[in-house]
Amino acid sequence: MTRRRLIAGNWKMNGTADALGEVTAIANAAGEQDRVDVALCLPATLIARAAAAAPGLAIGGQDVHASESGAHTGCTSAAMLLDAGATLTIVGHSERRQDQHETNADVRAKAAAALAAGLGVILCVGESDEVRTSGDAVAHVSAQLYASLPEAPSDSTHLSIAYEPIWAIGTGKVASTTDIAEMHAALRARLFAAFGEAGQDMRLLYGGSVKASNAAEIFAVPDVDGALVGGASLTAADFVPIVAAG
Ligand code: PEP
Repeated sequence: MTRRRLIAGNWKMNGTADALGEVTAIANAAGEQDRVDVALCLPATLIARAAAAAPGLAIGGQDVHASESGAHTGCTSAAMLLDAGATLTIVGHSERRQDQHETNADVRAKAAAALAAGLGVILCVGESDEVRTSGDAVAHVSAQLYASLPEAPSDSTHLSIAYEPIWAIGTGKVASTTDIAEMHAALRARLFAAFGEAGQDMRLLYGGSVKASNAAEIFAVPDVDGALVGGASLTAADFVPIVAAG
């Protein structure tokens, strides 16, 4: 089974119009290679302008509402993301699970809505420092994935899972390659249990302080099919070398 790597940036709540130059620089570099898929998940306010400025680059949202429309002030539907030019979205990022108290059931509903609308999904799971220290990380994250998974998408490549240990996000700490391999093997088994052969097509990304200096080592871990990158995706200077390592 050969899965094409996906290297996705998550700009979080960063970026205004003056950052579009970074988007186009990343798009240009991504367009010069054909080995990996590259995406940038941007603030909702930038999606339409980024999609217009960099038509060859996959642009994503960072969240989506589970409903098609209605009285949900401040929220964005899958149709709105598509309308703005996005082709994918993150769901279940740990910052939303923490800050917006999103549950596994919420994440599952968001993933289902996005997939039904035709968006690709990067569904995030990961353990806290406390859970890692307790020794229960694999069981905890496997259960989190199981409870967050939507029904099988019609195109299984539209669903990717990002394993992001919470203690590694934005901290400079990176999970060991042994721990990443153990977790990804468990998540792959969980996808196979849920979806059978279709689960083999789904990409498993690692996220948590990925940068140019550690990307190649992480990509060499079995069952790592790419990365979700936060801080190091904000500039072409930091992100393009990670793409090159993919
Ligand atoms: C993230 O935001 O998903 C992330 C992994 O952030 P960072 O790369 O900055 O740790």
